[in-house]
Amino acid sequence: MKFGGTSVGYVSAFMRVENVISTQIAKRPVVVVSAMTKVTDALLSAFDMAKKGDHDGAVASLEPHLKRHSEVASHFIPAGSAVFDSELRYAREELSDLLMRCARRSLPLSMLKDAIVSYGEQLSSRLLAEVLRAKGIEARHADARRMIVTDDEFGAAQPIWDETAELVKLELEPIIAAGEVPVIGGFIAGNRAGETTTLGRGGSDYSAAIVAAALDAAELQIWTDVTGVMTCDPRICKDARTIPVLSYEEAAELAYFGAKVLHPKTIKPAVDCSIPVRVCNTFQPDEVGTMILAHSGETPNKIKSIASKKNITILRITSARMLGAYGFMSAVFQVFDRHRTVIDVISTSEVSVALTLDNSDGLEKVVEDLRRLGDVEVETGYAVICVVGEGLRASTGLASKIFSTIDDVNVALVSHGASAVNLTFVIKEDMAAEVIGKLHREFFGVTTAGSGSGE
Ligand code: ADP
Ligand code: ASP
Ligand code: MG
Repeated sequence: MKFGGTSVGYVSAFMRVENVISTQIAKRPVVVVSAMTKVTDALLSAFDMAKKGDHDGAVASLEPHLKRHSEVASHFIPAGSAVFDSELRYAREELSDLLMRCARRSLPLSMLKDAIVSYGEQLSSRLLAEVLRAKGIEARHADARRMIVTDDEFGAAQPIWDETAELVKLELEPIIAAGEVPVIGGFIAGNRAGETTTLGRGGSDYSAAIVAAALDAAELQIWTDVTGVMTCDPRICKDARTIPVLSYEEAAELAYFGAKVLHPKTIKPAVDCSIPVRVCNTFQPDEVGTMILAHSGETPNKIKSIASKKNITILRITSARMLGAYGFMSAVFQVFDRHRTVIDVISTSEVSVALTLDNSDGLEKVVEDLRRLGDVEVETGYAVICVVGEGLRASTGLASKIFSTIDDVNVALVSHGASAVNLTFVIKEDMAAEVIGKLHREFFGVTTAGSGSGE
């Protein structure tokens, strides 16, 4: 059972989490929890402040968030929790020391950043374990950094599967066998040298899937603040509806192209071990969420959901060298490989290739290298829209229906056919909410476009 940051925001949210867990004790759950809402962002901005030399400001900026932890602790454990109070004191001291090191650059910054940001999950998991114990559930905190072993890619570390699976079993099976509920922080892990690493933003879902796979769990439950995966982001269209069943492939495409409700990598360990994933609402636990299974079957209109991702950059590379020649694409991809830059969507013609990036860090260097291969144009401010549904590629007339619904919008790039379940296109960012609204209305009925912030 994985609980996201929004599920552990405040006292009332902890109460709901405790309630949900208590109804499933007989199933022998393992709990994975994210940092309390907004804490990861706060830790990252404290890191940025400290890096610029403002140590005191960085420490002070964390204080309201640390206080939120104390408030929850004192609500559930009125007599005071000696264990958690000392954890919090230790965290304050350690964070102050780590932030000091940022200014002095006494350790590599990427390493310090992960050590700092890990305190979100370190504290939330210890706090949740204490809260559950106070409520009479036999819970025991287990440190994810001793179980999930990763490479040294700080900030986006990759788990080393065999070692991780063995350690997860070694650590958790005795706790489960003793009738206790293990509580683990998501997102955080450790490399072989024992240094703290993290799995990338939104990575708690991934941690939960890794633990579920290692223990061969009967089910992976993702508890969040919406009822399952919906026909589109409910913050963009308020008429978004819960999708009862999705296939792993559909869920992976949606997650990758912006449906934040699931972390893109979550699906993989679950798919490999055929573990069903259920997405449920902590705030409406009785509502039936979304079940993600190996195969979901087609719906009558083929389309299940519309995802979107903003802040997209398009790169167009044009070169006569491409005409009838082999090796050009490989040269282009090598540039991205060298700069460790991920490409999202790609489309090619005889003499040009267009592709999108959602992370423009280090873009100048990529462009500089690409210019050796041809002319390069860079356009910013786009959004990727991804329409997902089983049977989409095989359905006649569906692409035409999608594009005729938005025939007044300029489409900058289209990708279709690589996956059987998605059609992806790129438009100007400021049109995204309107386009999603129109498509949602066409395929799912009445929709109020742009009713939310879309953030
Ligand atoms: P958590 O803290 O539980 O990990 P996230 O904020 O990462 O929660 O993900 C939940 C959010 O994902 C929802 O509040 C919702 O706005 C957003 N979201 C985006 N697309 C979808 C979608 N298709 N279905 C459901 N939620 C979505
Ligand atoms: N706390 C981390 C983040 O905000 C991981 C997660 O919530 O899944 O990205
Ligand atoms: Mg999340």
